[in-house]
Amino acid sequence: MTHPRVPRVVIIGAGIVGCSLADELTERGWTNVTVVEQGPLFATGGSSSHAPGLVFRTNASRTLTEFADYTVRKFRGLDLDGKPCFQPVGGLELAATSARWDDLQRKHGLATSWGICSELLDPKACAEWWPTIDRDQILGGLHTPEDGLAKALRACEAQARRATARGAVFLGHHTVLDIEQRGGRVSSVVTERGAFPADVVVSAAGLWGPKIGRMVGVEVPLLPMAHQYAKTTQLAELAGHNDELNEAHRPILRHQDADLYFREHVDRLGIGSYAHRPMPVDLDDVLGVEDAQVMPSMLEFTDADFEPSWQEALALLPALRDTKVEEGCNGIMSFTTDGMPLMGESRQVPGFWVAEAVWVTHSAGVARALAEWMVDGRSTTDVHECDVHRFEQVQLDADYVHDRASRAFVEVYDVLHPLQPAETPRPLRTSPFYPRQQELGAFFLEAGGWERPHWYESNARLAEGISLPQRGEWASRYWSPIAAAEAKATRERVALYDMTPLKRLEISDRGALAFLQRMTTNQMNRTPGAVSYTLLLDEAGGVRSDLTVARLDTDLFHLGINGNLDVDWLLRHAPTDGSVAVRDITPGTCCVGVWGPSARDLVQPLTRDDFSHKGLGFFKARKASIAGVPVTAMRVSYVGELGWELYADADVGLRLWDALWDAGQELGVAAAGRSAFNSLRLEKGYRAWGTDMTTEHNPYEAGVGFAVRLDKGDFIGRSALIALSDQPPKRRLVPLLLDHPEHVVMGKEPVHVGDSTAGYVTSAAYGYTLDRSIAYAWLPSPATSPGTRVHVEYFGEMLPATVAAEPLLDPEMTRIRR
Ligand SMILES: Cc1cc2nc3c(=O)[nH]c(=O)nc-3n(C[C@H](O)[C@H](O)[C@H](O)COP(=O)(O)OP(=O)(O)OC[C@H]3O[C@@H](n4cnc5c(N)ncnc54)[C@H](O)[C@@H]3O)c2cc1C
Repeated sequence: MTHPRVPRVVIIGAGIVGCSLADELTERGWTNVTVVEQGPLFATGGSSSHAPGLVFRTNASRTLTEFADYTVRKFRGLDLDGKPCFQPVGGLELAATSARWDDLQRKHGLATSWGICSELLDPKACAEWWPTIDRDQILGGLHTPEDGLAKALRACEAQARRATARGAVFLGHHTVLDIEQRGGRVSSVVTERGAFPADVVVSAAGLWGPKIGRMVGVEVPLLPMAHQYAKTTQLAELAGHNDELNEAHRPILRHQDADLYFREHVDRLGIGSYAHRPMPVDLDDVLGVEDAQVMPSMLEFTDADFEPSWQEALALLPALRDTKVEEGCNGIMSFTTDGMPLMGESRQVPGFWVAEAVWVTHSAGVARALAEWMVDGRSTTDVHECDVHRFEQVQLDADYVHDRASRAFVEVYDVLHPLQPAETPRPLRTSPFYPRQQELGAFFLEAGGWERPHWYESNARLAEGISLPQRGEWASRYWSPIAAAEAKATRERVALYDMTPLKRLEISDRGALAFLQRMTTNQMNRTPGAVSYTLLLDEAGGVRSDLTVARLDTDLFHLGINGNLDVDWLLRHAPTDGSVAVRDITPGTCCVGVWGPSARDLVQPLTRDDFSHKGLGFFKARKASIAGVPVTAMRVSYVGELGWELYADADVGLRLWDALWDAGQELGVAAAGRSAFNSLRLEKGYRAWGTDMTTEHNPYEAGVGFAVRLDKGDFIGRSALIALSDQPPKRRLVPLLLDHPEHVVMGKEPVHVGDSTAGYVTSAAYGYTLDRSIAYAWLPSPATSPGTRVHVEYFGEMLPATVAAEPLLDPEMTRIRR
């Protein structure tokens, strides 16, 4: 069923998210909006009612930074009866340890990459902003002058008034009891005061999200957690500085080495702590609006939990000795397993959307993105990190959510390395090769629940003769020089890579070809046995994913995809007439990549099938049998060497690995991990979706235009690409080679051209074959000619680099096509 031009929208929850969303939707012409709220308006009793409203925008996630930046820009322009919704007092993050000081330099780089103004300050300059700081406690700070304080309740009401003026209705004291469905989608929202017909329902219920989700059978994987916030008695030094309208004048303050933050409340200080034990809250224990002593989302303050934080606060701000904690609460807020919000429309229940686990900081940005998504079908900001469908099934399990979200609470202010894995619950998903990987001393990191070897200690002796430049401390973490030996083995002999975690689908039946033709950019109508690299685009031509598609038979396709979001996108568009079957075959199968100049010498003796260049050419697939194991062999290579991805059923996977391993001994076979893999792929310029390109980029600027066949007939995104094709890209993804091989960066660093910040790094690695440090970066087109000199800012240092032509290695493809 298509919904009417102006659909009837019911938003559940009048917290900051619900109010912002009503405003953004009505602004876009969806004016038939009803917001139902169980509590009174607008101090509803939810988290927004007591949030102290600190807005620090800089985040490792570009998306979250953009959301926060929009919140600041929007709230700065809002007032409620002349009272501001935002106070731009600035932000100050302190470093008390050298690790934090290093991290602040990195954060300064992140801020620069994402367009946030920031400066690093020495202790004296920090004390000029906060005179009462004990300077001996700190090494410096990061000042962000445009951060500040959101007045969440005022912003709720101000946005609600705008929405109301456009036709929205806000109803307090309406508790949602049920959501009804008709014709396979939502049809109404039932409250104790009557039902509201709805074409679209949005759960903006904050910590109550899982309860609302249950009404329609949708998992909302968040964990409500208590977090302590306290206010001191009056502080003499603040007397006369602030008033009720301008509650603060000093920057909001973070002392993350002690898991603390501070803000002024007129003449008192507010102190928030993440230092205490995780305090998960069972939703069934959260009281109703009438029963709660103060508010349902405020639990009684537990003094003992706060005591160590109070001591830390006294150490940083000795003036607090003349005060005491006057009041406090254990306020409840939502945590997710990866710290990101939950956004999107349920596939199972069309018309049911969620916007949950959103901080005040990101609220307006999330609301804008969701409104665009609902009204226009896509958000202009890339939201893949926030999409509620990003999780694997095992990651929706209640124990997993409990475990990981508790961990996210503990780590909220930690200095986290981009490769740092969660420690529990592990191992969660393992490939059939796992026992052998353990025997070979694999160093595992985790992604999507999978244990993934990054290198194998058993290869240590291969690394002995290799001399590598001394890289920095940060780039040395979760890295080993053994990766160089594994890369060398791949380029010079042959290596086995566990590709099992790469998600794969089987798409079959009489409508499969037509479906894939419509969904993807490349020509799918090729003879069985052909493999294609292709893209999924959205309607605006943004890259949603890149896939490897093998046509195994007339109506049978094997897809190598990037993750659950691809499954979701494909299932949403799949015909419902039974003409297409989409099956996730990842759990029951496995894959080993056999790559290197000796790959054929290894595989051919193990099979009666023809693995010669003629028998199985580049980008071709076939069924075969290797050492008695039925496989699907695909002649593709993400590392740029001769070889195959060999897919087999999981139950015979170990046998396949063992056969290849045993036969490979005389060829010097090595097991190789992700660390070598990432380096090898960057030497070849192969993009990683989600890191190098997203929906914000079109294929031409991302350098994957070769996978687009505009003349093959219609496909999603084609019209947008046609409109683009006569405009040269304004920006491009290009490789940089750093001047000094010891300069290895990690990704997300700013890139400067001349005196201005021009772009940012996406992926980076040391190229062991090239003996050069590589970084891919987005830059404006005029700065992308090979030879352009740039600087990559890394921990405050300006590292010289040059834009290079790609691919950096083997442009004639002789290594792959032999
Ligand atoms: C102590 C504390 C300090 C914090 N500090 C900060 C900070 O400094 N900066 C920051 O960015 N964030 C901070 N946060 C987080 C922030 O407050 C929340 O993430 C944010 O307010 C969530 O907004 P929301 O609209 O999603 O949820 P809420 O404000 O909780 O709104 C959800 C609404 O849904 C309603 N609802 C639920 N179920 C039903 C139902 N069945 N029927 C009808 N209505 C229903 C609720 O009554 C509630 O009003 C803090 C949180 C706490 C607890």
